[in-house]
Amino acid sequence: MQTINCILCESNAGYPIISEDLYIGRKCTICDLIFVSPRPTLEAIISIYKNDKSAIYSNPYSSNTFYKLLHSKHTIQLLSNYSPTGSILDIGAGGGNFLKQAVSSGYDPFAIELNKNNADYISKQLNIPCEQRPFDLNSFQNISFDIVYHCNLLSHLYDPVKTFLSINSKLNDTGLLFFETGNLGGLPDNLLNKFDKFDLPDHLFFFGNKSIELLLNKTGFKLINIATYSLAPNIEYRYFKANIKSLVRHILHTTTISKYHSNNNSNQEQISDLNISKIRTRYIYQYIDFILTYKIGSYLFKKDRPQTMIVVAKKL
Ligand SMILES: [Zn+2]
Repeated sequence: MQTINCILCESNAGYPIISEDLYIGRKCTICDLIFVSPRPTLEAIISIYKNDKSAIYSNPYSSNTFYKLLHSKHTIQLLSNYSPTGSILDIGAGGGNFLKQAVSSGYDPFAIELNKNNADYISKQLNIPCEQRPFDLNSFQNISFDIVYHCNLLSHLYDPVKTFLSINSKLNDTGLLFFETGNLGGLPDNLLNKFDKFDLPDHLFFFGNKSIELLLNKTGFKLINIATYSLAPNIEYRYFKANIKSLVRHILHTTTISKYHSNNNSNQEQISDLNISKIRTRYIYQYIDFILTYKIGSYLFKKDRPQTMIVVAKKL
Protein backbone atom coordinates (compact mmCIF):
# COMPACT_ATOMS: atom_id res chain seq x y z
CA MET A 1 0.00 0.00 0.00
CA GLN A 2 1.26 3.48 -0.83
CA THR A 3 0.09 6.98 0.11
CA ILE A 4 -0.30 9.51 -2.71
CA ASN A 5 -1.24 13.18 -3.19
CA CYS A 6 -3.56 14.45 -5.95
CA ILE A 7 -1.90 13.30 -9.17
CA LEU A 8 -2.85 16.57 -10.89
CA CYS A 9 -2.15 19.18 -8.19
CA GLU A 10 0.65 17.08 -6.66
CA SER A 11 1.00 18.79 -3.27
CA ASN A 12 -2.66 18.40 -2.27
CA ALA A 13 -3.34 15.41 0.02
CA GLY A 14 -7.12 15.89 -0.17
CA TYR A 15 -9.72 15.17 2.51
CA PRO A 16 -11.48 11.81 3.08
CA ILE A 17 -14.79 11.82 1.19
CA ILE A 18 -15.70 8.17 0.54
CA SER A 19 -14.69 4.83 2.03
CA GLU A 20 -15.23 1.19 1.18
CA ASP A 21 -13.77 -1.86 2.91
CA LEU A 22 -10.29 -0.71 3.96
CA TYR A 23 -9.95 1.93 1.25
CA ILE A 24 -10.41 5.70 1.49
CA GLY A 25 -11.12 8.04 -1.41
CA ARG A 26 -9.80 11.58 -0.85
CA LYS A 27 -11.01 14.67 -2.66
CA CYS A 28 -8.54 17.30 -3.86
CA THR A 29 -9.50 20.77 -2.59
CA ILE A 30 -8.21 22.37 -5.80
CA CYS A 31 -9.39 20.22 -8.75
CA ASP A 32 -12.07 18.01 -7.07
CA LEU A 33 -10.38 14.78 -8.21
CA ILE A 34 -11.18 11.87 -5.88
CA PHE A 35 -8.21 9.51 -5.48
CA VAL A 36 -7.72 6.35 -3.41
CA SER A 37 -4.91 6.77 -0.87
CA PRO A 38 -3.31 4.63 0.48
CA ARG A 39 -3.68 2.27 -2.47
CA PRO A 40 -2.43 -1.19 -3.58
CA THR A 41 0.76 -1.61 -5.61
CA LEU A 42 0.69 -1.66 -9.42
CA GLU A 43 1.48 -5.42 -9.42
CA ALA A 44 -1.55 -6.13 -7.22
CA ILE A 45 -3.80 -4.07 -9.52
CA ILE A 46 -2.58 -5.84 -12.69
CA SER A 47 -3.28 -9.23 -11.10
CA ILE A 48 -6.89 -8.11 -10.45
CA TYR A 49 -7.30 -7.21 -14.15
CA LYS A 50 -5.86 -10.49 -15.37
CA ASN A 51 -8.24 -12.44 -13.16
CA ASP A 52 -11.31 -13.67 -15.04
CA LYS A 53 -13.46 -12.80 -12.04
CA SER A 54 -12.63 -9.10 -12.27
CA ALA A 55 -15.75 -6.95 -12.40
CA ILE A 56 -14.31 -4.73 -15.12
CA TYR A 57 -13.99 -6.85 -18.18
CA SER A 58 -17.05 -8.12 -19.91
CA ASN A 59 -17.78 -11.58 -21.18
CA PRO A 60 -18.15 -11.54 -24.98
CA TYR A 61 -21.10 -13.89 -24.64
CA SER A 62 -22.83 -11.91 -21.90
CA SER A 63 -26.54 -11.26 -22.13
CA ASN A 64 -26.53 -7.45 -22.45
CA THR A 65 -25.13 -7.47 -25.99
CA PHE A 66 -28.14 -5.55 -27.35
CA TYR A 67 -27.42 -2.68 -24.94
CA LYS A 68 -23.77 -2.77 -26.01
CA LEU A 69 -24.81 -2.66 -29.67
CA LEU A 70 -26.99 0.43 -29.06
CA HIS A 71 -24.24 2.05 -27.00
CA SER A 72 -21.59 1.32 -29.65
CA LYS A 73 -23.76 2.71 -32.45
CA HIS A 74 -24.41 5.88 -30.42
CA THR A 75 -20.71 6.32 -29.66
CA ILE A 76 -19.62 5.74 -33.26
CA GLN A 77 -22.23 8.21 -34.50
CA LEU A 78 -20.85 10.87 -32.15
CA LEU A 79 -17.26 10.00 -33.08
CA SER A 80 -17.99 10.29 -36.80
CA ASN A 81 -18.80 14.01 -36.30
CA TYR A 82 -15.17 14.56 -35.34
CA SER A 83 -13.33 11.83 -37.24
CA PRO A 84 -15.35 9.83 -39.77
CA THR A 85 -12.52 7.46 -40.79
CA GLY A 86 -9.09 6.25 -39.69
CA SER A 87 -7.32 3.83 -37.42
CA ILE A 88 -8.73 3.43 -33.93
CA LEU A 89 -7.21 1.86 -30.82
CA ASP A 90 -9.65 0.73 -28.12
CA ILE A 91 -7.87 0.44 -24.74
CA GLY A 92 -9.72 -2.06 -22.55
CA ALA A 93 -11.77 -3.36 -25.45
CA GLY A 94 -13.73 -5.88 -23.34
CA GLY A 95 -15.72 -8.21 -25.58
CA GLY A 96 -14.93 -6.11 -28.69
CA ASN A 97 -18.46 -4.75 -29.13
CA PHE A 98 -17.32 -1.20 -29.87
CA LEU A 99 -14.65 -2.28 -32.36
CA LYS A 100 -17.06 -4.61 -34.13
CA GLN A 101 -19.28 -1.59 -34.75
CA ALA A 102 -16.27 0.56 -35.68
CA VAL A 103 -15.30 -1.98 -38.37
CA SER A 104 -18.78 -1.91 -39.89
CA SER A 105 -18.54 1.90 -40.00
CA GLY A 106 -15.24 1.75 -41.92
CA TYR A 107 -12.66 2.34 -39.17
CA ASP A 108 -9.42 0.36 -38.98
CA PRO A 109 -9.46 -1.34 -35.53
CA PHE A 110 -6.82 -2.25 -32.92
CA ALA A 111 -7.41 -3.52 -29.37
CA ILE A 112 -5.70 -3.66 -26.00
CA GLU A 113 -7.38 -6.20 -23.71
CA LEU A 114 -5.86 -7.79 -20.59
CA ASN A 115 -8.50 -10.45 -20.01
CA LYS A 116 -7.41 -13.60 -21.85
CA ASN A 117 -10.90 -14.80 -22.85
CA ASN A 118 -11.83 -11.42 -24.26
CA ALA A 119 -8.44 -10.94 -25.97
CA ASP A 120 -8.71 -14.37 -27.64
CA TYR A 121 -12.24 -13.64 -28.79
CA ILE A 122 -11.19 -10.28 -30.30
CA SER A 123 -8.15 -11.63 -32.15
CA LYS A 124 -9.45 -15.07 -33.17
CA GLN A 125 -13.19 -14.55 -33.69
CA LEU A 126 -13.31 -10.89 -34.71
CA ASN A 127 -9.90 -10.98 -36.47
CA ILE A 128 -8.93 -7.65 -34.90
CA PRO A 129 -5.26 -7.11 -33.90
CA CYS A 130 -5.23 -7.35 -30.10
CA GLU A 131 -2.43 -7.06 -27.52
CA GLN A 132 -2.92 -8.67 -24.13
CA ARG A 133 -0.61 -6.38 -22.16
CA PRO A 134 -1.09 -2.95 -20.53
CA PHE A 135 -1.06 -0.02 -22.95
CA ASP A 136 2.22 1.91 -23.14
CA LEU A 137 4.56 3.55 -25.67
CA ASN A 138 5.54 0.11 -27.02
CA SER A 139 1.99 -0.98 -27.79
CA PHE A 140 1.71 -2.09 -31.44
CA GLN A 141 5.40 -1.20 -31.95
CA ASN A 142 5.73 1.71 -34.40
CA ILE A 143 2.07 2.03 -35.31
CA SER A 144 0.41 5.33 -34.46
CA PHE A 145 -3.34 5.93 -34.47
CA ASP A 146 -5.85 8.49 -35.71
CA ILE A 147 -8.14 7.87 -32.73
CA VAL A 148 -7.64 6.41 -29.26
CA TYR A 149 -10.83 5.35 -27.52
CA HIS A 150 -11.59 4.01 -24.06
CA CYS A 151 -14.78 3.54 -22.09
CA ASN A 152 -15.00 3.39 -18.29
CA LEU A 153 -11.25 2.93 -18.14
CA LEU A 154 -10.07 6.26 -16.71
CA SER A 155 -11.12 5.47 -13.12
CA HIS A 156 -9.12 2.23 -13.25
CA LEU A 157 -5.83 3.67 -14.54
CA TYR A 158 -2.95 3.45 -12.07
CA ASP A 159 -1.22 6.52 -13.49
CA PRO A 160 -3.67 8.52 -15.67
CA VAL A 161 -1.10 11.28 -16.40
CA LYS A 162 1.48 8.78 -17.70
CA THR A 163 -1.15 6.87 -19.71
CA PHE A 164 -2.52 10.06 -21.30
CA LEU A 165 1.04 11.18 -22.18
CA SER A 166 1.59 7.78 -23.84
CA ILE A 167 -1.74 8.09 -25.71
CA ASN A 168 -0.62 11.50 -26.91
CA SER A 169 2.66 10.03 -28.24
CA LYS A 170 0.85 7.17 -29.99
CA LEU A 171 -1.57 9.51 -31.79
CA ASN A 172 -0.93 10.98 -35.22
CA ASP A 173 -0.37 14.76 -35.36
CA THR A 174 -4.06 15.49 -35.87
CA GLY A 175 -5.11 12.61 -33.62
CA LEU A 176 -8.23 12.47 -31.50
CA LEU A 177 -8.73 11.19 -27.96
CA PHE A 178 -12.31 10.02 -27.42
CA PHE A 179 -13.38 8.50 -24.12
CA GLU A 180 -16.29 7.88 -21.78
CA THR A 181 -16.18 8.18 -17.99
CA GLY A 182 -18.33 9.18 -15.01
CA ASN A 183 -18.50 12.52 -13.18
CA LEU A 184 -18.43 11.45 -9.52
CA GLY A 185 -15.52 13.77 -8.72
CA GLY A 186 -17.57 16.75 -9.90
CA LEU A 187 -20.61 16.04 -7.70
CA PRO A 188 -21.38 17.98 -4.50
CA ASP A 189 -19.98 16.15 -1.44
CA ASN A 190 -23.39 15.48 0.15
CA LEU A 191 -24.58 13.54 -2.92
CA LEU A 192 -21.78 11.00 -2.55
CA ASN A 193 -23.46 9.68 0.64
CA LYS A 194 -26.24 8.34 -1.56
CA PHE A 195 -23.97 5.81 -3.30
CA ASP A 196 -23.64 2.47 -1.56
CA LYS A 197 -20.89 1.09 -3.81
CA PHE A 198 -17.74 2.61 -5.31
CA ASP A 199 -15.85 -0.58 -6.28
CA LEU A 200 -12.60 0.45 -4.57
CA PRO A 201 -9.82 -0.35 -5.40
CA ASP A 202 -10.97 -1.46 -8.89
CA HIS A 203 -11.66 2.26 -9.18
CA LEU A 204 -8.66 4.33 -8.14
CA PHE A 205 -9.92 7.75 -9.29
CA PHE A 206 -13.18 9.61 -9.85
CA PHE A 207 -12.97 12.58 -12.18
CA GLY A 208 -15.29 15.52 -12.92
CA ASN A 209 -15.26 18.25 -15.60
CA LYS A 210 -12.62 20.31 -13.77
CA SER A 211 -10.16 17.47 -13.21
CA ILE A 212 -10.66 16.07 -16.72
CA GLU A 213 -9.78 19.41 -18.27
CA LEU A 214 -6.74 19.68 -16.02
CA LEU A 215 -5.62 16.15 -16.96
CA LEU A 216 -5.99 16.96 -20.68
CA ASN A 217 -4.07 20.26 -20.32
CA LYS A 218 -1.25 18.51 -18.47
CA THR A 219 -0.89 15.80 -21.13
CA GLY A 220 -0.87 17.79 -24.38
CA PHE A 221 -4.55 17.77 -25.31
CA LYS A 222 -7.13 20.44 -26.02
CA LEU A 223 -10.66 19.73 -24.85
CA ILE A 224 -13.11 19.99 -27.76
CA ASN A 225 -16.37 18.79 -26.22
CA ILE A 226 -17.91 16.92 -23.32
CA ALA A 227 -21.26 15.27 -24.10
CA THR A 228 -23.06 14.60 -20.81
CA TYR A 229 -25.76 12.04 -20.08
CA SER A 230 -27.57 12.00 -16.76
CA LEU A 231 -27.83 8.64 -15.02
CA ALA A 232 -30.68 9.97 -12.85
CA PRO A 233 -33.57 8.71 -15.06
CA ASN A 234 -31.98 5.25 -15.13
CA ILE A 235 -31.39 5.21 -11.36
CA GLU A 236 -35.03 6.25 -10.71
CA TYR A 237 -36.22 3.64 -13.19
CA ARG A 238 -34.33 0.88 -11.40
CA TYR A 239 -36.34 1.57 -8.25
CA PHE A 240 -39.48 0.74 -10.19
CA LYS A 241 -37.97 -1.93 -12.40
CA ALA A 242 -39.26 -4.88 -10.36
CA ASN A 243 -42.85 -3.70 -10.85
CA ILE A 244 -42.39 -2.97 -14.56
CA LYS A 245 -40.71 -6.34 -14.97
CA SER A 246 -43.64 -8.27 -13.55
CA LEU A 247 -46.06 -6.22 -15.69
CA VAL A 248 -44.15 -6.86 -18.94
CA ARG A 249 -43.80 -10.55 -18.00
CA HIS A 250 -47.51 -10.76 -17.36
CA ILE A 251 -48.39 -9.17 -20.73
CA LEU A 252 -45.97 -11.36 -22.70
CA HIS A 253 -46.97 -14.48 -20.78
CA THR A 254 -50.68 -13.84 -21.41
CA THR A 255 -50.03 -13.23 -25.12
CA THR A 256 -47.96 -16.42 -25.41
CA ILE A 257 -50.47 -18.57 -23.49
CA SER A 258 -53.44 -17.35 -25.55
CA LYS A 259 -51.44 -18.11 -28.70
CA TYR A 260 -50.85 -21.69 -27.47
CA HIS A 261 -54.52 -22.19 -26.87
CA SER A 262 -55.65 -20.80 -30.20
CA ASN A 263 -52.93 -22.56 -32.24
CA ASN A 264 -52.73 -25.84 -30.30
CA ASN A 265 -48.95 -25.90 -30.79
CA SER A 266 -46.60 -28.77 -29.89
CA ASN A 267 -44.54 -28.68 -26.66
CA GLN A 268 -41.37 -27.88 -28.54
CA GLU A 269 -42.93 -24.89 -30.23
CA GLN A 270 -44.22 -23.65 -26.86
CA ILE A 271 -40.73 -23.84 -25.34
CA SER A 272 -39.28 -22.02 -28.31
CA ASP A 273 -41.99 -19.33 -28.01
CA LEU A 274 -41.21 -18.93 -24.31
CA ASN A 275 -37.52 -18.50 -25.12
CA ILE A 276 -38.36 -15.91 -27.77
CA SER A 277 -40.53 -14.05 -25.29
CA LYS A 278 -37.68 -14.15 -22.72
CA ILE A 279 -35.23 -12.73 -25.26
CA ARG A 280 -37.77 -10.10 -26.31
CA THR A 281 -38.24 -9.06 -22.66
CA ARG A 282 -34.47 -8.81 -22.20
CA TYR A 283 -34.17 -6.64 -25.32
CA ILE A 284 -36.95 -4.36 -24.13
CA TYR A 285 -35.15 -3.76 -20.79
CA GLN A 286 -31.85 -3.11 -22.51
CA TYR A 287 -33.53 -0.69 -24.91
CA ILE A 288 -35.16 1.16 -21.99
CA ASP A 289 -31.78 1.32 -20.20
CA PHE A 290 -30.18 2.86 -23.27
CA ILE A 291 -32.98 5.36 -23.99
CA LEU A 292 -33.11 6.55 -20.36
CA THR A 293 -29.41 7.37 -20.23
CA TYR A 294 -28.36 8.36 -23.73
CA LYS A 295 -31.58 9.97 -25.01
CA ILE A 296 -33.65 11.26 -22.06
CA GLY A 297 -30.52 11.70 -19.91
CA SER A 298 -28.91 13.89 -22.55
CA TYR A 299 -31.60 16.54 -22.00
CA LEU A 300 -33.03 16.17 -18.49
CA PHE A 301 -31.96 15.95 -14.82
CA LYS A 302 -28.35 16.90 -15.41
CA LYS A 303 -27.44 19.53 -12.82
CA ASP A 304 -25.63 18.02 -9.81
CA ARG A 305 -26.63 14.51 -10.90
CA PRO A 306 -24.44 11.49 -11.61
CA GLN A 307 -23.58 11.43 -15.29
CA THR A 308 -21.65 9.47 -17.84
CA MET A 309 -19.65 11.76 -20.13
CA ILE A 310 -18.14 11.30 -23.57
CA VAL A 311 -15.05 13.49 -23.84
CA VAL A 312 -13.54 14.61 -27.14
CA ALA A 313 -10.03 16.07 -27.16
CA LYS A 314 -7.46 16.69 -29.84
CA LYS A 315 -3.72 16.37 -29.72
CA LEU A 316 -1.95 19.73 -29.49
ZN1 LIG B 1 -6.04 18.21 -7.60
